[in-house]
Amino acid sequence: MAQTASALNAVRHVANWINGRAVESDSGRSGDVFDSATGKRCATVTMSTNDDVAAAVAAAQQAFPGWSQTPVMKRAQVMFRLKELIERDRDELAALITQEHGKVLHDAHGSIQRGLEVVEFACGIPHLQKGEFSPQVGSGIDTYSLRQPLGICVGITPFNFPAMVPLWMFPLAIACGNTFILKPSEKDPGCSLKWAELLQEAGLPDGVFNVVQGDHVAVNALLEAPEVAAVSFVGSTPVAEHVYRTASQNGKRVQALGGAKNHLVVLPDADMDQAADALVGAAYGSAGERCMAISAVVTVGNAAESLIAALKPRIEALRVGPGSDNNNDMGPLITAEHRDKVRSYIDIGVEEGATLVIDGRAHDITQSSGYFLGPSLFDNATKGMRIYQEEIFGPVLTMVRAGSFDEAIGLVNDHEYGNGTSIFTRDGDAAREFVNGIQVGMVGVNVPIPVPLAFHSFGGWKRSLFGDSAIYGMEGVRFYTRMKTVTSRWPTGIRAGAEFSMPTM
Ligand code: NAD
Repeated sequence: MAQTASALNAVRHVANWINGRAVESDSGRSGDVFDSATGKRCATVTMSTNDDVAAAVAAAQQAFPGWSQTPVMKRAQVMFRLKELIERDRDELAALITQEHGKVLHDAHGSIQRGLEVVEFACGIPHLQKGEFSPQVGSGIDTYSLRQPLGICVGITPFNFPAMVPLWMFPLAIACGNTFILKPSEKDPGCSLKWAELLQEAGLPDGVFNVVQGDHVAVNALLEAPEVAAVSFVGSTPVAEHVYRTASQNGKRVQALGGAKNHLVVLPDADMDQAADALVGAAYGSAGERCMAISAVVTVGNAAESLIAALKPRIEALRVGPGSDNNNDMGPLITAEHRDKVRSYIDIGVEEGATLVIDGRAHDITQSSGYFLGPSLFDNATKGMRIYQEEIFGPVLTMVRAGSFDEAIGLVNDHEYGNGTSIFTRDGDAAREFVNGIQVGMVGVNVPIPVPLAFHSFGGWKRSLFGDSAIYGMEGVRFYTRMKTVTSRWPTGIRAGAEFSMPTM
């Protein structure tokens, strides 16, 4: 099963996975997947049609009655085996992620680990899905609640975490007794077939987990399919809005996680070395292609000068190169188009009048054939600038100087995105005030990327999440199930005769 280096050297084909086997679409349409460190094509991917989606939906629908009635301990056992298999194949998975996405191997391993933790959480499904029971709520009457699966759940995922984000979704959905259709990003689809193979090896019945590859055609067909009960989406905000609107209009339960502009607020009393260390990792790790990356830093009062002094040498020392070299800190961007888009934001920032302290466009690595850009740092950005307002999703950190703590809070709260934010300070009172008043879903205190662990839940506010439910953790269990409350009376029941007034127990 272990993928050899030579297997990664060949141009692979990534097909659909329906009813327990890899199947090719009749569409004749396919896309190219590139090794982002070399710019060479490393795979082709099927672009599914409405018919392919219909086949996946039919398989998932057929599998649902059997799987939803499978005892919860047996569902948990599949998750235990899946955990072991991911651990067995994690090197292969990491190599695949590094090739298709570009992130450095150690970072790819970290992302697998964070996804694996959701599988571990899902192993506890017998406890997590337990209902509640109240005996003798009336004379001879008991009330209990159940959490039952919804049916077919769909996951639509972005390019930046080809392992972690799908793992936020399908382990819990399946453990809860649902069937699942994954539509991964067409830019790095390789891992999706690994999940299918590993789940099959773990003993999951055919049809419970299916994969349709492709683009908006497959997404829209899934959003329209009447048999689909729930949709989890993670991606950019415009697409999240489209998915949320369409899926809701079609009567589906939907959680749509969107883009971000995460602020790190640095107060003058912060440990500047600690803040600078945190910032370089959080801003430039994974080349800034993280929804929880810090892309805006707001300094308060005189924090700016000492922070820049600590930050500049650290950024200049970053090692940028192929992700296959574990000594590198930062790899390439996902595609040439995305690299060009990020680079255009550096041009925009200069035109807007921000101070370009470090220019990633001039980095030596940009001469190589991959989709590289060096790390960039802007200072003296202001609220109205596009480089501050818009999500760049690359290795560009934008610094805004605030005159006061209140002004810094106002900047974060006025921003359209509200995924994550952090404060660096030694002042407990300021930190407490920040945590209490900030309009953001995930908050860190002297912690740069406050991604909640698997037993909490992940979700932003404002235009970073559409829908009522965050992802994974108990919010995930609730999202993938619906509650049924039963009130029962044994054995006297109707023997006493019918009652016509509102029962009051
Ligand atoms: P994207 O929105 O372009 O694509 C996400 C998914 O939607 C992909 O599967 C893609 O095929 C599909 N898609 C793209 N355009 C579509 C359209 N017009 N109609 C229907 N489906 C469409 O996002 P991306 O570029 O792959 O990922 C980066 C984005 O994801 C960033 O904005 C990032 O902040 C966000 N993201 C958010 C989180 C979070 O938890 N909030 C996590 C990871 C990534």
